[in-house]
Amino acid sequence: MDEPLIVFNPKLPRLSKNEGKVLKLLVEAGKSISPLYLEQEKQIKKNSLIKEEINKASKTNAAILSPYTVLEKIDGKIVTIPYHVKYAKLLRPIADKLSEAASITDDKDFGKVLQLQAKALLDGSYDKATIAWLKFKPYILDIQIGPVAYNLDDQIFHEKAPYQAWVGVMDTEGTKRLNNYKTIVLGTRRKAMSEDRIDNYEKVRARVNDVILFSGFMARMKFVGINLPMDLNIVERYGSQITLFNQSNDLRMKEIILPTFNQLFSSEFREGFELEDLRRGYLRATALHELAHSFLYYKHASENLKDLFPAIYELAATILGMRMAGSLLLKERITEKMLESMIITFLCRSLYYMKQSKVNNPMINYVLGGSIFVNSMLESGALNMIKGMAVVNFMKMFLSLHELSDTLEHLLSFGTYIEAENFVKKYT
Ligand SMILES: [Zn+2]
Repeated sequence: MDEPLIVFNPKLPRLSKNEGKVLKLLVEAGKSISPLYLEQEKQIKKNSLIKEEINKASKTNAAILSPYTVLEKIDGKIVTIPYHVKYAKLLRPIADKLSEAASITDDKDFGKVLQLQAKALLDGSYDKATIAWLKFKPYILDIQIGPVAYNLDDQIFHEKAPYQAWVGVMDTEGTKRLNNYKTIVLGTRRKAMSEDRIDNYEKVRARVNDVILFSGFMARMKFVGINLPMDLNIVERYGSQITLFNQSNDLRMKEIILPTFNQLFSSEFREGFELEDLRRGYLRATALHELAHSFLYYKHASENLKDLFPAIYELAATILGMRMAGSLLLKERITEKMLESMIITFLCRSLYYMKQSKVNNPMINYVLGGSIFVNSMLESGALNMIKGMAVVNFMKMFLSLHELSDTLEHLLSFGTYIEAENFVKKYT
């Protein structure tokens, strides 16, 4: 596999001399995450060979299930080594760069976050670093670095947290727009389907970055948006941070959305959409997806739905996000064309992943979610495939989205594994 590192070259606002210096150090620190993640990929392959043994041993040794340990077989026995011990040699220079940046930055608050991120890499105090990152006064520069427990690919990772980093500079206009959406959307205080839900609306932060660097897991996944942390105990107490990435959106357009759009829609239909409509549509759909997560924090969902949880959870956020776009349309914050662009781009992404014959593990949730979406739209007649071309009835589509969103939230709030399994089987 290629190196898990993507360097973008966005047009940046004018930075002060100090900001420029700090940024340079952050980029250097971020880049060095990539070899660490490569090590982890090797480790995961090794783990998958002894999956049965790991499962068995985890019954008596809870550290095996920690997201932050490496598993090794010594004398026929499975032992655990904390990340910060196992990877100490690779982590030291990264932490040094962060500490150096912390010591020179003009922004004391940001410096404190950097200091805690550096410390966490060396001693495993990740929660402390995360909490500081959730609380600091928004600053023009942004870095997230370290292992993040994603809950995405439980089976193979054994819930191991992949190392990742991003470095970005705030897109001020985009951030303002996103925060306007946030106020409207979260202001609706959507009712929960069961009491199992955590509410954190008051503590949701949102920003849009121009990205300079994706490293490690981020470079593999190329997320357009992310909502962290995943640990609901921290989310409940300290809130969450939504981050959108402009350059990764452009990349997604180029690699996935546009080729699929050109292939699957008639030229007449395509004429109705400018490239810019689609670009904004996908970014806004992602924004609403991340906001929708705030309404879907059902505490027991992951436990109840097991391996089916990630796909259902992610699709539920996307569908609910599009449904909430309806209320933005009513408030005239978005146009009908925008809503259509959101739906079309997600449809393109879904069809793209369904056509891939070989998909690596984390992406499998996109495939599953995409198939559920496409097949339920085909069933309702909102989507028709005629001679290999997709034909969309937006009115029907919007009604079907409502229904699908309810079904998915039902599964998250009190669905059993059997129910989820039947549902997934029916639509894939
Ligand atoms: Zn999500």
